[in-house]
Amino acid sequence: MLRSALLAASRSATCRALVENTPVLRPIVDRFVAGPAIEDAVRVVNDLDGLLVSLDHLGEATHDRAHAERTVEAYRLALRRLGEAELAGRAEVSLKLSALGRDLPADGEKIALECTRRICEAAAAAGTTVTVDMEDHTTVDATLSIVRSLRADFPGTGTVLQAYLRRTEADCADFAGPGSRIRLCKGAYDEPGSVAYREKSEVDASYVRCLKVLMRGEGYPMVATHDPRLIAIAETLAGRSGRASGDYEFQMLYGVRPDEQKTLARRGLRMRVYLPYGTEWYPYFMRRLGERPANLVFFLRALAAH
Ligand code: FAD
Repeated sequence: MLRSALLAASRSATCRALVENTPVLRPIVDRFVAGPAIEDAVRVVNDLDGLLVSLDHLGEATHDRAHAERTVEAYRLALRRLGEAELAGRAEVSLKLSALGRDLPADGEKIALECTRRICEAAAAAGTTVTVDMEDHTTVDATLSIVRSLRADFPGTGTVLQAYLRRTEADCADFAGPGSRIRLCKGAYDEPGSVAYREKSEVDASYVRCLKVLMRGEGYPMVATHDPRLIAIAETLAGRSGRASGDYEFQMLYGVRPDEQKTLARRGLRMRVYLPYGTEWYPYFMRRLGERPANLVFFLRALAAH
């Protein structure tokens, strides 16, 4: 219920104005977000020495073409900066198709494909890759279709599958072929029971089934979770499938279990940190609060002290 309330708050303009205009909350936001500018993100990538990174320029649901163009430019700038700082070897980018025009009324999917293609070109020039994030369940077919098209020219393009969706085990089988890069996560949106598992135990069981499919497959699984039990299971399944530590990776969000991120990397496992930056941090931040009651307690304490 708490999670649903925070997800609803993430869409409320009033809550957004309150949170954005309360400076005392800034340190809590900074825990999860690198800062407003690409320079902030590059500085944090440098600090995350020894870890792989996926940079996310924050921004969702664009309803005009000019905004989608600005998002393309922001990613191209980010990729240039990563190249100049010689960080493209360990940093890629993640993006959301809604920020690239997917929901525009006419030709939205075509526009999103064309915009993402330009970002993939810039990534290839910098020597790195793109991963396409997954949003709510109504967008899965469009996202997978766009990713299939991109992979024809940019085979390293990755995407995300969400274990809470009932369809995902079958999608994992479809995307377990050679060269495929799939980030498996639990899923962050408030989905109805008709399409998604709602109980934690069901989501976790689905995550393990999906992991088995991906680990047995020929692609490159990206295990995105902070859940210690699932991390241990992933390592076991990788070993059973004959995968060396370079044949898959773990991923966690910036600011969540940072010590564990370093511990896994020190053990020789590939560990990638998802690092958001930009001014549009509000919906992302509210989703993170909803994932852990303790985060909400910090947030409410800071608000009360204000
Ligand atoms: P949980 O059961 O939620 O958490 C396990 C434990 O991890 C918790 O007990 C807690 O100790 C810790 N933890 C989890 N979240 C937090 C937090 N916010 N703050 C502090 N501690 C926490 N979702 C999408 O729908 N689409 C995407 O494209 C997407 N990309 C992602 C990329 C990465 C790299 C990661 C790590 C997650 C992504 N997610 C995405 C979010 C994901 O779906 C989950 O909502 C989120 O990761 C929490 O699930 P969990 O697997 O960590 O398990």
